[in-house]
Amino acid sequence: MNCSFFMPTHVFFGENCVLKNGHELRRFGKTALIITGNRSASACGALDDVVDVLKTNSVSFEIYNGIRPNPSIENVRDAVVQAKKINAEFVIGIGGGSPMDAAKAVAMLAVQDFDDESLFSGPYQKEPLPVIAIPTTSGTGSEVTPYSILTDNRNKTKKNLYHPSLFPRIALLDPRYTMALSYEVTLNTAFDALSHSVESALSRKASSASVAVAIESLKALGPCLLKMNADDPVDFETREKLMCGSMLAGAAIAQTGTTVVHAMGYCLTYFKGLDHGKANGLLLSGYLRYVQPENQYMVSRIVSALGLEDFEELLSLIENHMPVRHLLSREDVELFSNKAVHAKSTGNTRPTPEIEDIIEIYRKSLCME
Ligand code: NAP
Ligand code: FE
Repeated sequence: MNCSFFMPTHVFFGENCVLKNGHELRRFGKTALIITGNRSASACGALDDVVDVLKTNSVSFEIYNGIRPNPSIENVRDAVVQAKKINAEFVIGIGGGSPMDAAKAVAMLAVQDFDDESLFSGPYQKEPLPVIAIPTTSGTGSEVTPYSILTDNRNKTKKNLYHPSLFPRIALLDPRYTMALSYEVTLNTAFDALSHSVESALSRKASSASVAVAIESLKALGPCLLKMNADDPVDFETREKLMCGSMLAGAAIAQTGTTVVHAMGYCLTYFKGLDHGKANGLLLSGYLRYVQPENQYMVSRIVSALGLEDFEELLSLIENHMPVRHLLSREDVELFSNKAVHAKSTGNTRPTPEIEDIIEIYRKSLCME
């Protein structure tokens, strides 16, 4: 029996949790680099809260606000220059998965130089700087994972930088920061979280402990997805549940990794510009149809955790929120399938897909011409 579990991040959750727990940051040093995207960290109030507590606790800091969605290795290297210039002792990532992942890569590159290839393989001889994560979307769970997903333009793909010390030391989750998210980003990121818990529960690496966490995540996400529609604003209570569900889903994939869905989704993001969550959401029902026959018991647990009656209802929930409208050419599908079949996370999928299975999931999910 496998019941292993490792998740060292100290999670603080709730309104004003940054202001209430800011003193916790003091122990990581006297100088911090804050990493954010262009606008939202400041617009949602998170940056002001962090600046406030750093000043109160006499921590000096600079802000790098140039992280773009799906950050590239070059984008991260640009931030590393600033981290080294100020001798940052720790890094604070505020934003969606993009700035949080960038903060982890900066933490790694600030202590040791790597070329683009060895960044993803090591050897990692020095401990990365401590990372503090403050999510402003509810989807990636990056605040509780040891992964940093970067765009590798040379290899035309997204790659995973993994190190156990990249688990953020502290994660501060205030659902108020997500109030101004558009419906579209809220839905797409919620589907990233859904995909994480579903993939994790069905992963070859799942343990009793990781499944328990994934199921708890689905219990939080299910009522939100059942209730959400584009005509109604997403209320605070729903945003709280989405943030909690997303964090739990992150803690689940921190144990098991993702599966073929993420491997396939990276191609849709890299080549077709689809948001990460939407890419996963569009592939999810095709993937479930593929794995369900060999995983009937776990799929039925997923269905009931979400508060649904049966497998068909799960497929409808997914397909109603993520209607298929993207056309892929045969050439696209061939290229993407060749990349996805070799991705590491594909090996976590049960049953292990052959290239024909991957082609079929793309075909069913995205209407190949
Ligand atoms: P994101 O790329 O971080 O952000 C998407 C957009 O949302 C940006 O334009 C951002 O604006 C905006 N935004 C963020 N917070 C907002 C707020 N509170 N109000 C209004 N707008 C806001 O999106 P994401 O889906 O959270 O992250 C996706 C990335 O995470 C991908 O690179 C994916 O591969 C990665 N990921 C990582 C893990 C992991 O375990 N590490 C897991 C899954 C996915 P600004 O640019 O102004 O901030
Ligand atoms: Fe994801």
